[in-house]
Amino acid sequence: MDRIHVKYVLVGGGAASSACAEAIRELDKTGSILLVAQEISRPYDRTPLSKGYLRRETQKRDLVTQQVEWFTNNQVELRTGRRVTQIDVPRNAVLLDTGDEVFYDQLLLAIGTVPKPIGVIGASLPNTFYLKTITDADRLHHAIEISRSVGSNRACVVGAGLLGVEVAASLAKVGMNVDLVQAYATPWPKLGGEQTGAFIARRLKALGVRIHSNVRAVGLEGDGRVQRVKLSDHSTIPTDFVVAAVGAQIQRDLLRSTPIAAEKVILTDERGQTNIPSIYAAGDCAAIYDRMFGKHRSATHWEHARHTGRICGINMAGGEARYDSVTHFTTEIAGLVVNVWGEGRFVDHRLIRGNALSDEGGFAEIGVSTDGRISQIIAIGRDNEHCRYRDLVRYRYNVIGKEEQIKDPSAALPED
Ligand SMILES: Cc1cc2nc3c(=O)[nH]c(=O)nc-3n(C[C@H](O)[C@H](O)[C@H](O)COP(=O)(O)OP(=O)(O)OC[C@H]3O[C@@H](n4cnc5c(N)ncnc54)[C@H](O)[C@@H]3O)c2cc1C
Repeated sequence: MDRIHVKYVLVGGGAASSACAEAIRELDKTGSILLVAQEISRPYDRTPLSKGYLRRETQKRDLVTQQVEWFTNNQVELRTGRRVTQIDVPRNAVLLDTGDEVFYDQLLLAIGTVPKPIGVIGASLPNTFYLKTITDADRLHHAIEISRSVGSNRACVVGAGLLGVEVAASLAKVGMNVDLVQAYATPWPKLGGEQTGAFIARRLKALGVRIHSNVRAVGLEGDGRVQRVKLSDHSTIPTDFVVAAVGAQIQRDLLRSTPIAAEKVILTDERGQTNIPSIYAAGDCAAIYDRMFGKHRSATHWEHARHTGRICGINMAGGEARYDSVTHFTTEIAGLVVNVWGEGRFVDHRLIRGNALSDEGGFAEIGVSTDGRISQIIAIGRDNEHCRYRDLVRYRYNVIGKEEQIKDPSAALPED
């Protein structure tokens, strides 16, 4: 059992941690950095796991955020396959699962989230899957192969948020017969509006996905493995395996018995600093103060994780960076790129720019708050107005009196 001192300890092996290490090294060329990551792999991009990697179009080696030489050349010590089990805030120390104790000057918490369990009878049956890690995606590859070998090619995805939609589309694209169970009328219920939801549903149906709307999975049934998904309307779906995509949550065990302020996730100021000055938090496990919307911003997206990790790294190394961005992420719906800016929770009504009924996308859904100001834009498919969209959200543009101009794709978007 070792006791060592390291200037910067980064807990978590994802986008936020690796961006933090890069930012620290830009400002502090020599301060010791230790990155502790529970997974065996060094930091990698998870976003292809539900897309190209699941479809076997992307290789494992292409997922990593940095080549191994980067860590060596920049003297960032990697401890993969290791978990931080405790934070001793008064002593500025963390305990590793090896029993080693590491004292720090600055600590980053970038522990991400874990999938929410589906929480129905039968959920512990072995062919119920979640998708978070490379290992999870490899398990799914195996399940697909088994299903193909018996010739039934059936898969059931529960949950039609971002992840559920991506997984359903990818499974359909590799030739599976996919059932998608959604508790609401259309996909992306918490993120997009009716038109976006209807577009996604059409897109999935074109791939052959059968969508079961306004129903919940209430049980997973079968003899030693899931063979049927029981729904709240008493119907059942025969399947070879289930992918549960019903949300994510942080693992709170690390925060227990610490004074680190957290609600659903860890709270930070706009510099990424928690209520404990030597401790920062970034990425999916944190909510950073967002001055633009006057609230803590929690986002579970790749770009946000990198951005907030970078902000923390700069501040930890003595620089000055604050969160002043429009939240943005991209995703893919059955081959179409989708860009989303801003905050869906404030949306009162939506304006459609372009033709939402086209099967190829090329439209934007513009979410407007009760006070007439734009708070979210979802752009589906090919579009050359991205910078303007970002600015319309950034400056919370007031659409009152300009609705027709905004809806007409042949008219320029307002500039002032
Ligand atoms: C399948 C999938 C597809 C996605 N697709 C998109 C997309 O298209 N667009 C998009 O914007 N976002 C997407 N996301 C979300 C995006 O990947 C995340 O927002 C991003 O990875 C978050 O990075 P992070 O560093 O905060 O956390 P994570 O990437 O979750 O990394 C945290 C790491 O910390 C480790 N850890 C946790 N606790 C400890 C501990 N105590 N000690 C040591 N290590 C610990 C975890 O094992 C994990 O490896 C997707 C996510 C998934 C899972």
